[in-house]
Amino acid sequence: MMDIVAIVGRPNVGKSTLFNRLIGTKQSIVDDQSGVTRDRQYGESTWNGKDFAVVDTGGFVRGSDDIFEAAIRLQVEIAIDEAAVIIFMVDVATGLTDLDEAVARMLRKTNKPVMLVVNKVDNHSRLLEANEFWSLGFEHTHFLSSVTGSGTGDMLDAVVEYI
Ligand code: GDP
Ligand code: MG
Repeated sequence: MMDIVAIVGRPNVGKSTLFNRLIGTKQSIVDDQSGVTRDRQYGESTWNGKDFAVVDTGGFVRGSDDIFEAAIRLQVEIAIDEAAVIIFMVDVATGLTDLDEAVARMLRKTNKPVMLVVNKVDNHSRLLEANEFWSLGFEHTHFLSSVTGSGTGDMLDAVVEYI
């Protein structure tokens, strides 16, 4: 069984964009089961000679903010349970939100490695704005742009240390 790297975070931060970049041309399976599994998408990736499974979560559930929050919480619980490494994605374009804080509180309780990934850091001014996310207190904090790919290599170097 390959180690799992789970990408969690609130909707629209860029999880699926990073997922697609990580799995590249490798096949991704869209699970058409009901419930929890329908809200997860699996792929495979390789970095520095290490193979791992990537799970993209959320974004497949429709409904109100409450349903979204419950779905995100469930995906974070599953990630804490099954993942070797958790990528917790936030988004500098929107800035720090209450939902980010709620996810951070859940992830602070695990001993699993958590990489805080601040996405949409597309340029220098956004890099300055991204400093607000240090307040979440994660030792592993990475700034990247999933669209341009900048920063993804350094982040993956850190992820595969735990694979
Ligand atoms: P998800 O809901 O977390 O899976 O987010 P998506 O991957 O669907 O992305 C949400 C939106 O953010 C899309 O319009 C993406 O094109 C955009 N996006 C994702 N990554 C970046 C990035 O690094 N920079 C910018 N500017 N936009 C991004
Ligand atoms: Mg998505």
